Amino acid sequence: MRTFFITALASILTFPVIAGTMDIRVLSDINLSSLIVSPISGQYAIMADGQPVSDSAKANIFQLILEGDSIVMKTLEKKIGKFAKVIFTGVGKNNIIKIKSVVPAGRIRSYDDHLEVSVYAAYMKVINKVDLERYIAGVVEGEAGGVTTNEYYKLQSILCRTYALSNVRRHELEGHQLCDLVHCQYYRGRTTDADIISSTAATKGMVIVDGSLNLITAAFHSNCGGQTVNCEDVWAIPLSYLRSIKDTFCIRQPHAKWKRNISTEDWMSYLALKHKYPVEDSLSFNNAVSFGQAGRAVYFKDKDIKIPLKTIRGDFQLKSTYFSIEQRTDSVLFRGRGYGHGVGLCQEGAMNMTKLGYSFKDILVYYYKGVHLVDLASLEFFREE
Ligand SMILES: [Zn+2]
Ligand SMILES: [Zn+2]
Repeated sequence: MRTFFITALASILTFPVIAGTMDIRVLSDINLSSLIVSPISGQYAIMADGQPVSDSAKANIFQLILEGDSIVMKTLEKKIGKFAKVIFTGVGKNNIIKIKSVVPAGRIRSYDDHLEVSVYAAYMKVINKVDLERYIAGVVEGEAGGVTTNEYYKLQSILCRTYALSNVRRHELEGHQLCDLVHCQYYRGRTTDADIISSTAATKGMVIVDGSLNLITAAFHSNCGGQTVNCEDVWAIPLSYLRSIKDTFCIRQPHAKWKRNISTEDWMSYLALKHKYPVEDSLSFNNAVSFGQAGRAVYFKDKDIKIPLKTIRGDFQLKSTYFSIEQRTDSVLFRGRGYGHGVGLCQEGAMNMTKLGYSFKDILVYYYKGVHLVDLASLEFFREE
């Protein structure tokens, strides 16, 4: 077993390990030009262009305003100066810092640990340099907060940690690791939810790897509708652990079913114009108003025409590709199952499994084939040998 681990060592060196902190761009969806920053707990050392900010001990509210390619920094009383970069480094215990976007106007958010404000592509860029585990707890709240079991929070924290670490190069060209949007993982700042904090702590450092000890692509979605999808049917590249499985745990959950009416005229003109589908042919017409899927299909087919279901899903913004079509008087009724791309772990199925007493380990190996749960510390150990 040990030999197996060591020979597989080379493959785990493909991600930079991460002794502790992540660089997350926050407020990354807005063109920010004025911001209020206020340390509210712990102790902060504030540096502007490499120099300590002298008034920082007295003031605890700072305004940062974009001016050309610089940032003007002010306290409530006076202007401190004009800088390229301002860094708030937490040096106490439990350092928490609040920010509020002024232009454009936004809500107050609070973050753990450190904050770095600079100018990038004509706007202000805010980076939260945050302890990995505290970031993960914030992401678990963003992705699954509110309505589930502690066992599910544990599971979600492992998924989010694995995802974060396998995607640390996602924004490398812009100089940070991840953004705070669903593009990476949704992160609204620190969580105060005690269940999420304790559940994340219970899985500290745990990640999912495949048989070669590579971090997996921990794909998940809301509800698979009863069958998950082979990943190559959505993203072209096959992965051994993202295989289609039958899932009976989600079929009575909130997003198991959906319906959508589309006028027959819109449906036919879409098929004819976009896909050159022969709508005048009566057999083809009938086929287009009476489509079904016993198990998950990949294409809507007619003779030599093959339309990927994911294309239809995207064009009509349907909840899933797992649908059938029935004719109504002037419309076609899409009856669908599930919500999301269907690859990997089904969140509603997994939540139900935790309620039925399954552990997060049982659930991970149910949705991801042939994977192992390992501790980052043991990966570090093999890295150092
Ligand atoms: Zn991103
Ligand atoms: Zn499911």
